[in-house]
Amino acid sequence: MKIKILGTGTSIPTLTRLSSSYLVITKGKHILVDIGPSVVRRLLEFGYAVNDIDAVLLTHFHVDHTADLSTLLFACNYGIEPRYKPLLLLGGLGLKRFFKTMASIYPWIKPNYYELILKTLSHGEYFYDNILIKTIRVNHNRESIAIKITDRKSVVFSGDTSFSKNLIKLAHNTDLLIAECSFPERVVKGHLNLKSLQKIIEKAKPKKVILSHLYPDWDAYRGVLNEPCLIGEDGMELEI
Ligand SMILES: [Zn+2]
Ligand SMILES: [Zn+2]
Repeated sequence: MKIKILGTGTSIPTLTRLSSSYLVITKGKHILVDIGPSVVRRLLEFGYAVNDIDAVLLTHFHVDHTADLSTLLFACNYGIEPRYKPLLLLGGLGLKRFFKTMASIYPWIKPNYYELILKTLSHGEYFYDNILIKTIRVNHNRESIAIKITDRKSVVFSGDTSFSKNLIKLAHNTDLLIAECSFPERVVKGHLNLKSLQKIIEKAKPKKVILSHLYPDWDAYRGVLNEPCLIGEDGMELEI
């Protein structure tokens, strides 16, 4: 399983970090986890085409996690090659309403020639071509979920969240946890910092942790992180 980190930033635009989004490639499937602003362009930069994407999983509907969904869907209809293969769009509570509302503003994103599969999964399991997608609710907003993708090895995406027992459960012994750690120290409702993330890591015992969703507070951070943690950077690629 290959994980390409497309962005490690937040809603604050910076030149060094695009908003948090990831590409998981396994069993020949290209699965996007979150699709914030400029992620479609970032995909092209890394050598992927719009129609390579088989599935988009949304941790929640905040702009920094979904803004380029309309860009992607529009390109599926009107790109150089129109899309014919199905696209899975999976998210938490209210996914269908979210899509419907978006399509009422941008009617051109409704699929022309392909099937768009809308799957609401706020707590449960879904088999996608023998790849197991598991979700659990986390503490950020109503629809927020953490997502686990398993294909022999497993990777967990925390999405945005504050301390969460559910996240500990989902990330237990996982090979890789890509965790939001918005701030090194600052305490902000609905987000993690190093201290609260550490509590999750101690209990969940993931083999490796990449910190992501990094606010500019991190630019001034001079501390050293201990195993199994690494600060995420845009463009990082991991094989698990
Ligand atoms: Zn966010
Ligand atoms: Zn958010």
